[in-house]
Amino acid sequence: MRKKTNHPTLSIYKSTWLNKVFDAHNNISGEILLKISLLFSGIRFTQELEEAGKWALPNYQPYRFSKEERLGREGDIVDIPYLLLLNKLLIRVKVNNKSPFQILRKNEDYVLYCNEEPIEKIVFQKKPDWYSRKIEDGTPIPRLGLSQHGDMLIVNASPGCEYFLHQDESSGNYRCRFCFYGAPNPKMPTLGQPETLIKEEDLLRLAEAVSIASKEINHIYLVAGSMADINQEAERYIQVASSISRAVDDRVNICCGSSALPKEASCELKKYGVGAVCFNLEIWDEELWDKICPGKSKFVGRENWIQGLTDAVDVFGRGNVMSAFVSGIEIMQPYAYSTQQALKSSLDGAEFLLQKGVISLFTLYWPRDASEFEEKSDTIRDYFLELSNEYHKLRKQYDLNIPNKFVCQDCSYMQLDCDFDCFM
Ligand code: SF4
Repeated sequence: MRKKTNHPTLSIYKSTWLNKVFDAHNNISGEILLKISLLFSGIRFTQELEEAGKWALPNYQPYRFSKEERLGREGDIVDIPYLLLLNKLLIRVKVNNKSPFQILRKNEDYVLYCNEEPIEKIVFQKKPDWYSRKIEDGTPIPRLGLSQHGDMLIVNASPGCEYFLHQDESSGNYRCRFCFYGAPNPKMPTLGQPETLIKEEDLLRLAEAVSIASKEINHIYLVAGSMADINQEAERYIQVASSISRAVDDRVNICCGSSALPKEASCELKKYGVGAVCFNLEIWDEELWDKICPGKSKFVGRENWIQGLTDAVDVFGRGNVMSAFVSGIEIMQPYAYSTQQALKSSLDGAEFLLQKGVISLFTLYWPRDASEFEEKSDTIRDYFLELSNEYHKLRKQYDLNIPNKFVCQDCSYMQLDCDFDCFM
């Protein structure tokens, strides 16, 4: 029996295309199926996307016109929105001109269509006001390592990951195999790259920027590239936490998304206002972990990573320690796990962590080279749905919800966990 929709206006049942998806997953709420359909199928490029791209939060990748579309235009790329909001669902915009979905204007509104059927009104996330503001020394705030997704401010004081710098004889370098973040870049000196620690004057500039931007958000996620020396990484996060926690009021909750830090570092972070941590294991399966995350394996080690997570529960409390997992990569080449293998391994890991009070966040893998992903799209979609659904049941069993003070439906644009908590 399908879960009842919480939004009576949602007219999903009109669409034949969507009904096929719904019939195949009749135990899952319509809202969640609509979100996952949009994440996988994307939306066709329309003039409406181009128009909204002028004022919306911009997508990482602009839209590149095809040869035919370029005719009569000045440039060959255009900004498009990054995130759309459909009722309570925050969804990343992916353009796919073969998609059954498109967004068209109807009077003052943007409306999502599936083929010719209107489904629901949507809104695009606007560029936050702070995007166009500067700190006192004239530096534009976005150049200080800040970005925003929904109601979450991402503070990335040290972009660039040292795993890209260390050479691994067999495969080039130690970056996680799904990641294209890049090495610390001396051409980005805004916050003193590639120094290990951030200078006092730069911390003050960062704090000024965060203070301005924090008026528009509910939570902050501290992130940066990993460092080969975990103690140095810890020191850098502690200095960032100590400077920005003084710049925001108590309403804003801070989560630290570093590598798995030693317990003393977690204690220090807590002292400086951090209320949760998210030490991302990325993959549970032991064999795959070494292959997919060679840097984490070499510079921290799986046992230490898990120890860091469980130690952090002592510091921050049950349910305030998280680990994100990249879901779907196991099924792709060269790993080629079956969905049953991947499901079993991921759920075993999730249950192990729940028993320790650690929450897993399953994030959809979105590869750069889309051809194999497109081929396996239905398989990965069904896997991701089943994983999220089974994991939701496990969380109920262990009485642990996603800690909404730090991660919520209003910022989860590539995950379903918060949507499962809301709709199921
Ligand atoms: S540690 Fe983080 S930034 Fe570094 S390669 Fe892995 S995912 Fe990318």
